[in-house]
Amino acid sequence: MTPNLWETNTPQKFWRLEPDPPAETWNQAIQNSIPVLGFPPAINSLEDVLAYSLGEARFGKNHFKMGSIRYLYYLLKPYLPRSAIFRLRHLAGSLLGANMTKSWPVEARYVKFQWEILRQVLLLSEKQEISFRYFWPEGKEYAFVLTHDIETAEGQRLVPVLADMEEALGFHSMFNFVPEVYPLDWGLIRELQTRGFEIGVHGLKHDSRMFDSFEHFQKRSKSINGYFQKFQARGFRAPLTIRNPEWMQSLEMEYDLSFFDTDPYEPIPGGVMSIWPFTIGRFTELPYTLPQDCTLYKIMGQTTPQIWLNKIDFLKKYHGMALVIVHPDYSAEGKVREIYGTFLREMSERSGYWSALPGAVTDWWQQRAADEMTPSGQPFGLARATLVENNLKILLPVPSDELMIISQYC
Ligand SMILES: [Zn+2]
Repeated sequence: MTPNLWETNTPQKFWRLEPDPPAETWNQAIQNSIPVLGFPPAINSLEDVLAYSLGEARFGKNHFKMGSIRYLYYLLKPYLPRSAIFRLRHLAGSLLGANMTKSWPVEARYVKFQWEILRQVLLLSEKQEISFRYFWPEGKEYAFVLTHDIETAEGQRLVPVLADMEEALGFHSMFNFVPEVYPLDWGLIRELQTRGFEIGVHGLKHDSRMFDSFEHFQKRSKSINGYFQKFQARGFRAPLTIRNPEWMQSLEMEYDLSFFDTDPYEPIPGGVMSIWPFTIGRFTELPYTLPQDCTLYKIMGQTTPQIWLNKIDFLKKYHGMALVIVHPDYSAEGKVREIYGTFLREMSERSGYWSALPGAVTDWWQQRAADEMTPSGQPFGLARATLVENNLKILLPVPSDELMIISQYC
């Protein structure tokens, strides 16, 4: 029998209410909130809900197996010109993800489910307000995480362009290298680490073959596990986001970045619906929550970062994690570099978010779920959730004792 890799992601652990209500209140609040998800009536237990949302079970039993058409496309991909690849992806995205476009780029159902549970807890407890261990350090409204996947030697050559752009505006990011495709520039890897960037492992080769069979996956996993050590890396992203939560348990990363809240344009379209980190078996998952750079420019034909900024407004409203993937291979030159530059400048002018590396987010999220103290040894800040005319409002913890109303249920 397949173990339920998502079962620890209970609403109780998500909210960390203080004081914690009795189990029957939680159970009733969950039952009352399940209809918000709009899942089929048979999905009526928390276990099923978690598998259906975080586990992507709503896309069918064979979801993590690549379909034959998609498989053929990704086998041919190395031999096709880039313009043909993006035209095919657009076509594939609109065919495969046709019924997903209404939940992209914003998939709000799981988010509203969590909010509804807390509202139900208050109603069932006949309380006007309750405290919970706030999601992010120092009362920041949301987390902001920059990541890069380097797919080619040319991409590796362009890494310093992105690193310099980010550093100049006070940001640091994660760079994921593919161990066995291009000759690794070890000087660059160590220099990035010294400058405060984080290094991750992006598969072993950059192809769709890793998930061909379990045996093949196991073989590659062993090599990948060796690279966590060599790279001094804690995190992993699967090439082409081809993913399998069960098989990936044999990878020895602390956290993974191969899943996303919603994306109809990937080889395996779908999404975990969560805008926060969560647990998949033995590792922490940090889903990306902003459309990929290539989707934005090549598929949606965007010339500005507006789609990203709009999504950030949603993530901020629900105190989520804004996590983006940008490829130096095609975002470090020409007009598209300007789109990323504009995005970073716009973000640098905003405030109220926690700009963090994936490793720091993982530490924070794990300790928030398990420990009494934050990674820096402080007590966790408590936010208050309060009912105002039956709607939930979140009052953020702030350094002074004053509380600030910033978020509203809708
Ligand atoms: Zn990649």
